[in-house]
Amino acid sequence: MTDVFDAEKRSAVMRRVKGRDTGPERLVRKALTGLGARYRLHRKDLPGSPDIVMAGRRLALFVHGCFWHGHDCARGARVPKANRDYWTAKVARNRVRDEAARAALEAAGWRVETLWECELKDEAALVVRLEALLAGQAAARAAASARAASSAA
Ligand SMILES: [Zn+2]
Repeated sequence: MTDVFDAEKRSAVMRRVKGRDTGPERLVRKALTGLGARYRLHRKDLPGSPDIVMAGRRLALFVHGCFWHGHDCARGARVPKANRDYWTAKVARNRVRDEAARAALEAAGWRVETLWECELKDEAALVVRLEALLAGQAAARAAASARAASSAA
């Protein structure tokens, strides 16, 4: 396909394609650090290379750009007029890949949470959501050990 981007735009796009150190991901990392969570980035050994991984909590987070991953929101629905078929097919492939990664992670016992770019504008809401995720994990663990204790009794 022909290169529709000039060099500067292209490198901005490639940065986003690679998904490293994008603005949205930085926001999530900052919020997690504020909550005292420890995490690792871009675990290539896990399905889909989740953006943020908390192995001890079996929690994998994906921070997805709405356009690239086909979010059901205004930004996600916006397809460039040029090369429309190309972009539509590309986003569809990303969605298939995302679903496969989620299924594989869940089958391996991971909790998977997708944080969409459009959901990160409200930083306070993001912190509340992450806090609930981290607390939910603790609650699930407590419930599991309570079940284990009662079945042992
Ligand atoms: Zn969105």
